[in-house]
Amino acid sequence: MITRCPSCQAKIPAAGMFPEDACRQVYESVLAQEYSDPVYGAAHLLTVDCYALQHPEARRPNSNAFHLLRLGWTLNRVRIPKLGRTDNDFKRYAYDLRDFPYLEAPRNRGSVTVADVSEIDPKEHMKAVCVWAGSVWKAYGVHHHWVGRKLEIDI
Ligand SMILES: [Zn+2]
Repeated sequence: MITRCPSCQAKIPAAGMFPEDACRQVYESVLAQEYSDPVYGAAHLLTVDCYALQHPEARRPNSNAFHLLRLGWTLNRVRIPKLGRTDNDFKRYAYDLRDFPYLEAPRNRGSVTVADVSEIDPKEHMKAVCVWAGSVWKAYGVHHHWVGRKLEIDI
């Protein structure tokens, strides 16, 4: 049976679980691939930010600001496909995390989900995650101005 995640709208096999748990299980399988294979791992930060921004319900109120800022930083500042898990250059933007605002999640959080990046060829993984990232970034367009101000760039 196929179910739909209430947060990101991904269509996923339910397997007798709550839809959000089934979605989380897909996410965890992607993380397991990224931790075990550096080709998959290159996309790790984007994966974490995209999933968090599509599932903000269970997170701290300022979580969206952190993940959207890092997503904006990655897409607009880094432009390196092989990002891996290193975000040291980003940390200087995140030092005042406790002062981050609450950024409301849009109702539509993008048409691409974690289900679209799971179980695909490692060589295609980064490309698929970049498409996912572009979709989530666009969905959060109402907050681009805040990200641009924070990163001191025009978006
Ligand atoms: Zn989901």
